[in-house]
Amino acid sequence: MKKVAVIGSGTMGNGIAHVFAQNGFSVSLIDISEEALQKALGTIAKNLDRIVAKGAITEDQKQQTLTNITTFTSMQEGVQEADLVVEAATENVDLKLKIFRDLSSFAKPEAILASNTSSISITKIASVTDRPDKVIGMHFMNPVPVMKLVEIIRGYSTSDEVTTQIMEISKQLGKVPTECNDYPGFVANRILMPMINEAIYSLYEGVAGVEEIDTIMKLGMAHPMGPLQLADFIGLDVCLSILRVLHDGFGNPKYAPCPLLVNMVQAGHKGIKSGQGFYSWSHGTKELIVADRFKKN
Ligand code: NAD
Repeated sequence: MKKVAVIGSGTMGNGIAHVFAQNGFSVSLIDISEEALQKALGTIAKNLDRIVAKGAITEDQKQQTLTNITTFTSMQEGVQEADLVVEAATENVDLKLKIFRDLSSFAKPEAILASNTSSISITKIASVTDRPDKVIGMHFMNPVPVMKLVEIIRGYSTSDEVTTQIMEISKQLGKVPTECNDYPGFVANRILMPMINEAIYSLYEGVAGVEEIDTIMKLGMAHPMGPLQLADFIGLDVCLSILRVLHDGFGNPKYAPCPLLVNMVQAGHKGIKSGQGFYSWSHGTKELIVADRFKKN
């Protein structure tokens, strides 16, 4: 397996294309937006410069990595030779179902179709394709070139053979693939999101302020950052949509998103990407916002 197509060139797609290309795969990077593709190539080049500066790869290897990537705005053209397609488009169920429906006719019949979705059911995605046994979740972590884990999600119909192949390929990328079954939130987000939600509830109920909650969890649990800062990094809209998947999928009120999170997303305060979340990021660094404004009235 040498040819990979990556659909979506945003935060995750550019990182996924980067690691495949750096490990010798020929990569077709596909996006509907030419601007997003150009931005992705710039990000990959910058990230490769950092790896060259650390001495982990040579300038020649950087150039070879960039040569291994070709960009496309047509999915039909981009996927036609791929042995593996990794979809990393926007987290929207209707969009993903359309992409996978189209892949049934555009990709080679033997191609494996993987999704990097954070929370959408792999079984549901597989059900709209002509090859549910060859559909699998390949959930990379952000930032992809740095983070070791790939959560490998077996849909209800995913074959053993396809799972083994994807585990092998992930190892070739220098990652640690870890297998789980297809239930809401898989493992990573099923455990992470209730923690983030509980941190937001603690703020909303006035148990402590933003800085206190993050400091307690960061230093007390040896986490690299507190849960509220992490939510700002992930995107509050993304956290909310994953909590809704957990809530709907299990029908258990323990996953109900905190009303403060719902309000913040509705107000457009989505974290780093919008310049404001639990912290202000508008000057490029983390700044505290007066804690009182987060409290329940
Ligand atoms: P993003 O918004 O940064 O990028 C999405 C890209 O998909 C955009 O460039 C957009 O133009 C493109 N796109 C939309 N429709 C398309 C189509 N039909 N064909 C081709 N490209 C299309 O999103 P992201 O954060 O990179 O997330 C991508 C996926 O990865 C989502 O499923 C998300 O849940 C998952 N994920 C995200 C993170 C994270 O931390 N951001 C972590 C793990 C998994």
